[in-house]
Amino acid sequence: MRCEEAASLMPAYLEGELPEAKRLELEKHLSSCPTCKRKFEELVRNRELLNRERDNILKAPRTLAEGVLERIRREKETLRKRARMLRSGLLGFVFALGAAFLTTLFKRKKHQPERR
Ligand SMILES: [Zn+2]
Repeated sequence: MRCEEAASLMPAYLEGELPEAKRLELEKHLSSCPTCKRKFEELVRNRELLNRERDNILKAPRTLAEGVLERIRREKETLRKRARMLRSGLLGFVFALGAAFLTTLFKRKKHQPERR
C-alpha cells in the first residue's frame, strides 16, 4: 500500500467503515511506515479534540435550552397563578357587587312604602 492510499483510508478506518482486508493492509502499512503512523496518530488526536469540542458544543446549548425552558415553565406557572387569582378575585368582586346590589334592593323595598 502506498502512503497516499493509506492516508486516504485513515478517516474511514477511524469510522470503522473499512473492510477487513483494507483495514489489515492499512495496519500493516502503519506499522512499517513511521510517516503514516505519525499522520495517523495526529488524526486520532485531532479527532479526539474534535469530539470533545463537539460534545461541549452540544452540551452547552442543551443546558442553555433547558434553562430557558425552565424559565418559561416557571413564568407560565406564575401567569397561571396570577390568572387564577385574578379570576377568583373578579368572581369575588362580582359576588360582592351582586350581594351589595341585592342588599340595597331589599333595603329600598323595606324602607320605601308601597306606592299606590
Ligand atoms: Zn506511509
